[in-house]
Amino acid sequence: MPHYDIAIVGAGIVGLAHALAAARRGKRVIVIDRDAQANGASVRNFGFVTVTGQQAGDCWDKARRARDIWAEIVDEAGIDVLQRGLLLAARLDESEAVIDAFLRTPMGEGCERLTIDEARRLAPALRPEAGRFTLYSPHELRIESRTAIPLLARYLEVKYDIEFRRSTAVSAVEPPRIETSTGVIEAETVVVCPGDDFKSLLADRIAAYNVTRCKLQMMRVVPAQRVSLSTAVMSDLGLGRYLGYAELPEATALKARLDREFKPERENGIHLIVTQSEDGSLIVGDSHHYSETPDPFGLERVDRLTLDEMDAVLNLPGRFITERWIGTYASAPNRWRFTDKPSDALRVVVVTAGCGASTAFGIGEETIEDLYGSAA
Ligand SMILES: Cc1cc2nc3c(=O)[nH]c(=O)nc-3n(C[C@H](O)[C@H](O)[C@H](O)COP(=O)(O)OP(=O)(O)OC[C@H]3O[C@@H](n4cnc5c(N)ncnc54)[C@H](O)[C@@H]3O)c2cc1C
Repeated sequence: MPHYDIAIVGAGIVGLAHALAAARRGKRVIVIDRDAQANGASVRNFGFVTVTGQQAGDCWDKARRARDIWAEIVDEAGIDVLQRGLLLAARLDESEAVIDAFLRTPMGEGCERLTIDEARRLAPALRPEAGRFTLYSPHELRIESRTAIPLLARYLEVKYDIEFRRSTAVSAVEPPRIETSTGVIEAETVVVCPGDDFKSLLADRIAAYNVTRCKLQMMRVVPAQRVSLSTAVMSDLGLGRYLGYAELPEATALKARLDREFKPERENGIHLIVTQSEDGSLIVGDSHHYSETPDPFGLERVDRLTLDEMDAVLNLPGRFITERWIGTYASAPNRWRFTDKPSDALRVVVVTAGCGASTAFGIGEETIEDLYGSAA
């Protein structure tokens, strides 16, 4: 029976991040996933590796480290960085105070307020009235997740000799023994990165974190004439939702106004993110609905609210929609992630907010350091 130093269950970004961190420490790694190809949140997202706006403290720290690791590996892994930075275009008076307060925090370092003319140089389709108060951040990277995740897995296979066992469901883990649908695997240590599957493995331990799921509706929009967005674009609604802004005292007035004047958007957890793919199409979202088992149906009225916000911010005459999809991620009250330790040789790592693409590499390093000690 092949024997590994460490087995990772789950080949989403959280699992791959742990595989990379372990391989960099010289460990013999196997990654096991029940799907034949990546199919979870990690390939359904915006591919928006976000630093600015993440919650102050641990989340922002992990996001900065993760962004640096993405930057280290993209070239070698053959992953294109399609956009850099973030333009948050705000039109409400109350947003100005939030942006200025954010810029005064340590998280505002490197960020700046842009005039509308400066902002439109980065995003010419921006409506002047939508960018009265614009925050620019240089810290973000945008990759195309549906191609980047397979490329990352391939990079791990080729560069680090990591073995991938796909189409294999794991039914029990008690290191060194791992029971799977394709036989028993042995590994000294196991890290379970199950995404939003809370029931297949260690269900009682995961349940202690009061986990639920968050459902998001996403669209791909094609402008009739190609537009250039060199950064991702967000709007006032992002200031009310991303905790790095929304937890600032100055955000209280903005959130009250959003609750009054953007009631349906707030009730459906809508905030605008627009990223651009290589072919010029835009990934547009998103909404947030929480439930243990989210229904699989995309509601037109929810997409309509997101599109109305996009049209208020960007001028895209004749735009049309070519794809719609739903994604789900793990969610838990009052925490954005957890690492559970059932035994010395076993960890369960779950990101419980919509920031796994932005933070997983930082978390992976932390877990591997906890298991094997600090790197020399
Ligand atoms: C629509 C959407 C948009 C988002 N946008 C962003 C964004 O722009 N930026 C950002 O940072 N984050 C974003 N997120 C959040 C981010 O995508 C998630 O936090 C992240 O992908 C979670 O990664 P994961 O590896 O934990 O989960 P997943 O990608 O879901 O992977 C979990 C894997 O575990 C496998 N698995 C589970 N149980 C077993 C088992 N018993 N046996 C074998 N395999 C198993 C599954 O098959 C799956 O492949 C978004 C999420 C969604 C849904």
